[in-house]
Amino acid sequence: MEQYDLAVIGSGPGGYVAAIRAAQLGYKTALIEKYSTLGGTCTNVGCIPTKALLDSTHHYFDALHNFKAHGIETTTVQLNFTQLNKRKAEVVLKNTQGLDYLMKKNSITRLLGTGSFTDNSTLQVRGNDGAITTVKAAKYIIATGSKPATIPGVAIDKKRIITSTEALSLPEQPKNLVIIGGGVIGVEMASVFSRIGTNVTILEYADQIIPTMDRELGSSLRKILEKEGVKILTQQSVYKADNLGSTAKVWYRNSSNAEQEIEADYVLVAVGRKPYVQGLGLENTGVQLSQRGTVVTNAALETTVPGIYAIGDVIGGAMLAHKAEEEAMYVVESMFGHPHQVKYDCIPGVVYTWPEVASVGLTEEELKRDGIPYRVGKFPFAANARARAGMDTDGFAKVLIDTKYGEILGAHVIGARAADLVTQAIAGKTFEITADEMARAFYPHPTYSEVMKEAWVIGSGRPSVNI
Ligand code: FAD
Ligand code: NAD
Repeated sequence: MEQYDLAVIGSGPGGYVAAIRAAQLGYKTALIEKYSTLGGTCTNVGCIPTKALLDSTHHYFDALHNFKAHGIETTTVQLNFTQLNKRKAEVVLKNTQGLDYLMKKNSITRLLGTGSFTDNSTLQVRGNDGAITTVKAAKYIIATGSKPATIPGVAIDKKRIITSTEALSLPEQPKNLVIIGGGVIGVEMASVFSRIGTNVTILEYADQIIPTMDRELGSSLRKILEKEGVKILTQQSVYKADNLGSTAKVWYRNSSNAEQEIEADYVLVAVGRKPYVQGLGLENTGVQLSQRGTVVTNAALETTVPGIYAIGDVIGGAMLAHKAEEEAMYVVESMFGHPHQVKYDCIPGVVYTWPEVASVGLTEEELKRDGIPYRVGKFPFAANARARAGMDTDGFAKVLIDTKYGEILGAHVIGARAADLVTQAIAGKTFEITADEMARAFYPHPTYSEVMKEAWVIGSGRPSVNI
């Protein structure tokens, strides 16, 4: 039997951050992970490999379509699909090795195997060789993450009907790809594959892609992706998919309720993710699950069993790495006497297409629905000198400002480097800075950040001098 102050189950961005922070605070910590590499979904089959492929395919697309305008003539530009995937694997490896190093540096005990509770205070870790280690810890954190969800009639076989995990390591470049779901995974994967010449069709149930984001972002991104050749069909109701051997087929009803079918090399199912608690032995504990299968927690992120906490995708909400990380810091620091807060209304959402899409706070649709008065500050990238220099003029920044106090209600950006630009809006919103104060700070010239400055100027009620 091994005894710890804290045992963390799952090594994704929730789990590894929790383990490192607890060890930094001087607590004897164990991290239990069933796979041999650390980092969870994000590092192995999520954030990191997708961004590696997005970056590579962005370069390829640029070389094919944009170099000429910059005066760079190339005779042939060829895609090496094997190298594309090899580089991605190397990027993942560098990150997982970085985590191995951090475990050693912080003297965290790594236990390789599946963690399963036998009662409220005991965990058994079953290694791949069947060996069992019994763990007793004063406190536990469940950080077991999520797995891809599907829809009735669509069984994922991981061969032709695949998830994002298989899409990240396809044996060959597909000629055709059908993506069910035009959410974050759907549009990021559509970008990766359409840039390298795959015919991509997105079938989305809602009337807009990235439907949970501000509507203007979705309609703007749709136009950009369609211009690049992605076929986007909204208000489509998929009810069946079959593996036909060398292809797969999808049956769906379109917006006029007419029966349709489409065949492709692969069908990627990207309709959301579900919390993962399989094999965790929660039935042997008092830990309750919600109807949606998420682990139920209170405001302290403690489950229905005192001393067992849960964080990240497994508790639902925004299924994002930075949300899992913040919850990890919050739980560990609070549990060991350093309380702080998670600002759930300031969690950013980013889509790493090009241009990028990034958001924080309330959308215009939510403000209208809730009858909250607001002022809009909107500025286009086309009127920004740096964007013109870089030929990245698609998009806009839109800030939504409280009419009474000038506080930031929301910021929504589509454009080059939107992911980086939105971070200053997050800081502004987190620390309740007004639009006027945001506008009166210096912004280096010429930078994309000046798009934000102009949006804050307009949002604070003054006219921009640049439009
Ligand atoms: P996970 O990262 O899922 O980690 C859970 C870990 O627990 C896994 O390693 C699992 O093997 C382990 N585990 C589960 N059960 C047990 C058990 N019983 N015993 C031992 N180990 C167990 N988010 C972003 O913020 N930015 C992005 O760009 C982004 N891109 C994404 C791209 C894709 C394709 C996908 C699928 C997701 C992406 N996400 C992104 C979401 C992000 O990956 C998740 O929100 C994040 O990984 C959640 O972290 P977590 O720690 O809660 O769980
Ligand atoms: P999502 O919730 O972002 O999108 C799912 C999409 O599928 C939605 O647009 C939804 O309307 C659609 N849909 C649902 N049922 C459908 C049906 N029957 N037919 C057609 N469309 C249907 O989920 P996702 O894209 O699968 O991503 C899963 C999680 O991973 C998300 O929580 C996301 O935040 C996270 N993720 C984040 C990033 C990032 O931060 N850049 C990237 C990838 C994934």
